[in-house]
Amino acid sequence: MTAAPLLTVEGLSASYGAVRALDGVSLAIPAGGICAVLGANGAGKTTLLRTVTGLHPSSSGRVLLDGDDITRLPAEKAITRGLAHVPEGGGVIAELTVEENLRLGGLWRSDRRDRSTFTEVMELFPPLAERRGKTASTLSGGERQMLAIGRALMGRPRILLLDEPSLGLAPLVTRQIFGLLRDLRDRTGLTVVLVEQNAAGALAVTDTGFVLNQGRVVAEGASSELLSDDRTRHAYLGF
Ligand code: ATP
Repeated sequence: MTAAPLLTVEGLSASYGAVRALDGVSLAIPAGGICAVLGANGAGKTTLLRTVTGLHPSSSGRVLLDGDDITRLPAEKAITRGLAHVPEGGGVIAELTVEENLRLGGLWRSDRRDRSTFTEVMELFPPLAERRGKTASTLSGGERQMLAIGRALMGRPRILLLDEPSLGLAPLVTRQIFGLLRDLRDRTGLTVVLVEQNAAGALAVTDTGFVLNQGRVVAEGASSELLSDDRTRHAYLGF
């Protein structure tokens, strides 16, 4: 039996002026699933995340979270429904300490004085616990990415949407971050959507994958099947 979708995207389209970046994208992410969204530069991956989270307007189609229509919900409201978005580059604030950055992620919560989430994040990411009082500017690329993920977790999300967390990271660090996402899902049941250009790495840690090209889904399926699908790999994934 397949789990009911937590996130459903139905025929979603979005544009920048005359440029149609998303052209009728449909996908379903099961609760507790870890899913890759792949495709070359300009395929529409970032626009998909930004449209789902309400940062960019859709021109048609729907976004459902656990059956509720959130298509027109602004980003600051979507976060309160449990959608957490880690943008490309992470978006941590270099001048603030690790702890201050993390606390920003939970500021909107009515129970923000509850310390348990902070303690859990410290346990999940020991390097952050060690550098708790240091400014984010002193962190390595991998630690900054951990901080961005930790900050998103401070909001106790139901689904974590990550935009190219491997960008600028060495292959070994990328594998650590991908492994960490998989562990997080396995341990907590969090639903994860991983947008990546590093298709081989992302398919190695996800259950399912969607491949975008020119704003459309051109392939989808189990990650293991996509990994062994020569036609899709050569045509769209570059390996
Ligand atoms: P990348 O891996 O380079 O981030 P992507 O798959 O995330 O690529 P998008 O950034 O979503 O792709 O871009 C999809 C299309 O929309 C591309 O044709 C891109 O040039 C265009 N586009 C993206 N952002 C803008 C913008 N702010 N203004 C105009 N066109 C844009």
